[in-house]
Amino acid sequence: MHEITVNLHMHTRYSDGSGTHKDIATAALKTDVDVVIVTDHNILVHGFEGYYKEKNKKILMLIGEEVHDQARDPQKNHLLVFDANREMATFADSPQNLIDQVRESGGLSFLAHPDDPEAKAFKETDISWEDWSVRNYTGIELWNALSELKTVVPTLLHGAFYAFFPAFVASQPIPNTLARWDELLASGNKVVAIGGSDAHALHMNLGPIHRVIFPYEFHFRTVNTHALLSGPLSGDVTSDKALLYKALAAGHCFVGYDLPAPTNGFRFSAQGRESTAIMGDEIPAKFGVTLQAKVPSHAEIRLLKDGQVIQTWNNQLSCTHITSEPGVYRIEAYRHYLGKKRGWIYSNPIYVR
Ligand SMILES: [Zn+2]
Ligand SMILES: [Zn+2]
Repeated sequence: MHEITVNLHMHTRYSDGSGTHKDIATAALKTDVDVVIVTDHNILVHGFEGYYKEKNKKILMLIGEEVHDQARDPQKNHLLVFDANREMATFADSPQNLIDQVRESGGLSFLAHPDDPEAKAFKETDISWEDWSVRNYTGIELWNALSELKTVVPTLLHGAFYAFFPAFVASQPIPNTLARWDELLASGNKVVAIGGSDAHALHMNLGPIHRVIFPYEFHFRTVNTHALLSGPLSGDVTSDKALLYKALAAGHCFVGYDLPAPTNGFRFSAQGRESTAIMGDEIPAKFGVTLQAKVPSHAEIRLLKDGQVIQTWNNQLSCTHITSEPGVYRIEAYRHYLGKKRGWIYSNPIYVR
């Protein structure tokens, strides 16, 4: 398996972001990300996909889209669309039809910021996902860095503080979203979790203070989706794109908050008598299964089965659990950072059937 770091869900001047595709590439080249996926609102922008290079470093930029019904008030149900290769905004009025159209086009769809509360001080409305009757989407955006920011800024002053000290914001996915994910998984479906930055690089003016809040580069160092590819990136855009989207569709990925410490190297796997599995895969429960997780530096590791923590290891680098009980098993890892215990890694599940 070849691990790559992906930062996804971000906006440019084509919608409500402040930067250009070039700005995003320049910012990404300063960080450890391998791929960025730009998703402007209701427009599939052409002409920017490809490798961007600087000295010995290169990054792959892919273009997706974030679709929602602009005629709807409030504007809920934002859907991240990858790899559909055609404009999907025309289907925005029906979330289910939109999801079906994306699937028919061979694309992936993720319910964006399922919980995205109102931030009154900034006149930001609640744009959570609302239509929970939908089916056949690829997954959900478990951790959205911007939604989380909205939960910690009751006043403009809080906003100003976090504009200067953005590292204090991220703490964990919104608990409601985690609970919702476990509920969806309990229904027997595969639901892939990804982490998004929702980067806009917005300009903030507060009296004499002017600042770009949460610049792209900052986001690229925080909440990333780490994908496990079946082969290495080759430098060919078409085949590399296919490799990545295949891994995301299969749930061969985890959400890593890379600011406290790099999450590269995290693995969660299962060994059965006749087969092995990695996160996103199914494995038969018959004859027993050994679940194994390893983290790249010491952390609190929690194993969850069907949404409940069944075992916790403190200050460990790895852990093992043997079971013959069917269930949806996933890992969470926590670390202390800036005076607080924070979520660090959220794996996709292994489905023991
Ligand atoms: Zn959105
Ligand atoms: Zn967005």
